[in-house]
Amino acid sequence: MSAVRKAIALALKRAGIGDFTFEARILVEDLAGDSDPIDEAASARLNDALARRLAGEPLWRVIGAREFWGLTFTLSQGTLEPRPDSETLIEAALIHLAARRHEPLRVLDLGTGTGCLLIATLREFPQATGLGIDLSADAVATASANAARNGVAERAAFRQGDWTDGVEERFDLVLSNPPYIASDEIAELDRNVREHDPHLALDGGLDGLTAYRALAAALPGHLNSGGHAILEIGAGQEAAVVALMEQAGLRHLHSRRDLGGHIRALVFGHRS
Ligand code: GLN
Repeated sequence: MSAVRKAIALALKRAGIGDFTFEARILVEDLAGDSDPIDEAASARLNDALARRLAGEPLWRVIGAREFWGLTFTLSQGTLEPRPDSETLIEAALIHLAARRHEPLRVLDLGTGTGCLLIATLREFPQATGLGIDLSADAVATASANAARNGVAERAAFRQGDWTDGVEERFDLVLSNPPYIASDEIAELDRNVREHDPHLALDGGLDGLTAYRALAAALPGHLNSGGHAILEIGAGQEAAVVALMEQAGLRHLHSRRDLGGHIRALVFGHRS
């Protein structure tokens, strides 16, 4: 086992991959599991994975899953890789809804992708139920599978749709990590992101704010009085997004920073 891990680490190192020791460990742990010595099937999986990694595919895409909030999420072509930065939204939900932790809250996740925001929230709010919506049918299928994988299938529903089109209900908590990269900045993103995350999940239109305009139009009619909306934003978008939401009649309650010190989550309340 350790000889194989060393050989993989060396190949990764030669390819200029910085975290080669860590990556070799993850590849062997995830793809060879307990097979020691490594059996033929595991060895074929490792060879295939190493070739994909050396060809430039990001580690978690090769593994096919990524951890978020201590849970494991399956990835697919139509889903963004969950990012640690987005955990800031779950932290904000726990702070702002602390007093309602055991209520049967209704939660909506717009642009659910892997379902990571909704599923992590349902794990933290044991009586809550929720709906995740995504434009991508592939994402909807992946999110449903992730709800089952993480034990919340009975409390989570998913559907394909364009933001809240066709949804009449109001919710206690609306979460969204919408596409927020300005179209002309996509070309400048890190290659791992640009070539492997779906552009539908990244592209926020000319000024990066297109999705927030749609959210500003949709949120007031989909929040219960006393409800909260928690939105992820990109670098430098706080003032513009707060202005859009306030014009739409929401109240800005809080901005929360991620571990890198960037303002990442904006919390809004229904003005009631
Ligand atoms: N909600 C998902 C996430 O946070 C997907 C977001 C997206 O595709 N923009 O990862």
